Amino acid sequence: MTNEKPYRIAIASGKGGTGKTLLSTNLADYLAQEKAVVLADLDVEEPNDALFFKAEIQQSEIQYKMIPDWQAETCTLCGDCVKYCKFNAIIKIGEYITVFNELCHSCYACSELCPAQALPMKPNRIGITNAIKSGRIQLVESRLDIGQEQAVPLIHDTQKYIQDHFSPIAIQLFDCPPGTSCPVIAAVADADFVLLVSEPTPFGLHDLKLAVETMQLLGKAYAVVINRADLGTNELENWCQQEQIPIAARIPFDRDIATTYATGELAWRSNSNLEKALKSLVEYLHERKEVYA
Ligand code: SF4
Ligand code: SF4
Repeated sequence: MTNEKPYRIAIASGKGGTGKTLLSTNLADYLAQEKAVVLADLDVEEPNDALFFKAEIQQSEIQYKMIPDWQAETCTLCGDCVKYCKFNAIIKIGEYITVFNELCHSCYACSELCPAQALPMKPNRIGITNAIKSGRIQLVESRLDIGQEQAVPLIHDTQKYIQDHFSPIAIQLFDCPPGTSCPVIAAVADADFVLLVSEPTPFGLHDLKLAVETMQLLGKAYAVVINRADLGTNELENWCQQEQIPIAARIPFDRDIATTYATGELAWRSNSNLEKALKSLVEYLHERKEVYA
């Protein structure tokens, strides 16, 4: 570990299947030649970064979300909690108060304001966070329990876990969930810089536009990495130029990269095209001082 201030780079994409995991895992491994790196798999519904590192789990922590637990014997059935909840997570039917765990945002309003103290907050298991060490890479992954629908609280718990355990590690990569909805916004919230992975297809451009709009709304610094850059059309590159959106790196299409990725190996170690793309990406990040030289 070092004493440098951590620099957090989120790797996101407007949709799945663009090469986000390929970039996250290979970039972490490439950077780890010289420095300790945290790689956080924040795609908590389908984490798969760990498949590429074949190391044992060192430590696991169950994660919980606080939910109000209705106490029928003390409740006066005044119905105030239904009015207090801004998320429609509580209903009153006859003589029963029901809390919908999936709608609850753990804001504590109902619990604090209930005149009869009939809604104490109780921990409710939502998933697990695993810490895995592979050489200089400290991998942290979280897995949402089956049946849980809200990824955001677990993403927040994972970020806190990293802050509590690995904050002295200078380079932190966040492999984000795909898309542009709440889980992505939560995953990039702490990032100092965002790499948006895209591909030169009409779908890729459409989803990149949404991702760029999201980053602009959030006020995040970002750049694009084009995967399979020599396939498809020039439309995406032209749009980036027109909008003055920086392109940090281009990963060429190479069947060998896809084959190696599919076998759960880190393709840059044997593929010079991917190695060159990572080298130019790291140079770009160095120039921007996103990664400490
Ligand atoms: S606010 Fe408290 S006392 Fe009133 S209905 Fe809700 S749980 Fe019962
Ligand atoms: S904790 Fe907040 S979100 Fe959850 S039920 Fe109570 S008022 Fe609603």
